[in-house]
Amino acid sequence: MSQKIEVAPGLIVLRVVADGWELPEFSPGQFAVLGLPPEAPRCDGSRIEDQTPRGGRLIRRAYSIASSSVSREYLEFYINLVQSGSLTPRLFALQPGDRLWMGPKITGTFTLDHASRDHHLVLVATGTGLAPYMSMLRTMLPTTEGRRVSVLLGARHSWDLGYHSELATMERLCPNFLYLPTISRPDEEVVPWSGRTGYVMGLWTSGAVREQWGLRPSPNDTSIFLCGSPAMIDDMCSLLVTQGFREHARNAPGQIFIERYW
Ligand SMILES: Cc1cc2nc3c(=O)[nH]c(=O)nc-3n(C[C@H](O)[C@H](O)[C@H](O)COP(=O)(O)OP(=O)(O)OC[C@H]3O[C@@H](n4cnc5c(N)ncnc54)[C@H](O)[C@@H]3O)c2cc1C
Repeated sequence: MSQKIEVAPGLIVLRVVADGWELPEFSPGQFAVLGLPPEAPRCDGSRIEDQTPRGGRLIRRAYSIASSSVSREYLEFYINLVQSGSLTPRLFALQPGDRLWMGPKITGTFTLDHASRDHHLVLVATGTGLAPYMSMLRTMLPTTEGRRVSVLLGARHSWDLGYHSELATMERLCPNFLYLPTISRPDEEVVPWSGRTGYVMGLWTSGAVREQWGLRPSPNDTSIFLCGSPAMIDDMCSLLVTQGFREHARNAPGQIFIERYW
């Protein structure tokens, strides 16, 4: 592991370099598998784990890649701490230079490949569900002429909005890109938050995308990606279905694409 950036309490960006092998090619939106042995130390502030890992076996979990697929100097991951989890407290205890296991295969179907090329994109995330979109945006945003792209991001606090300044800069530089963050606990802000508040679904129902795009996103012209907490995904999906969108399946193409983290 080459770099650990602490974004906020319980949120880190990890950069991983391959030692003695070449990082494989991947499509933005795909995930890698990281692993550590049960003997690896847990970070301060973690709780007793829900399940004691079996000795001698690596603890492995999937993580979406947040870095661009065109520059493979390192792979970047955006990870939140599950205090009673098995792997994340061990990942949080890593220091630059420490070794961890990474699976040689990068896989996943949560990519832009199945979305119609002429569709606008709405990328909806809570928390670290932003990771696959960072890879997509860092790889292709400047070349998406004509295609509108919006990120709708929900977090509890403003300090949990990882990549906030990078996304705000993209919005300033790319006329086709819209970044809409919202926080759900404005009462806990240290400095008053003047941005949007409430859940990410409220951003969609508020009509903010329609207002900014100057057109109403419809299943004929827009593909919607959902990534992060299961509650957000279920609520958004149910709502979108009532608006005529359909979940994409291999044998029945649709406009809703989903990545469930748990
Ligand atoms: C395709 C895929 C991509 C993923 N990408 C990411 C990523 O980019 N960043 C990331 O942080 N996680 C990601 N995850 C989740 C990750 O694989 C682990 O499940 C998570 O880090 C918890 O691991 P753990 O061993 O610490 O917890 P475990 O011991 O496995 O405990 C799991 C329990 O913790 C809860 N949980 C799991 N993930 C989260 C979470 N993110 N936030 C809150 N509670 C959670 C659930 O209740 C779950 O049952 C991804 C999962 C999948 C399937």
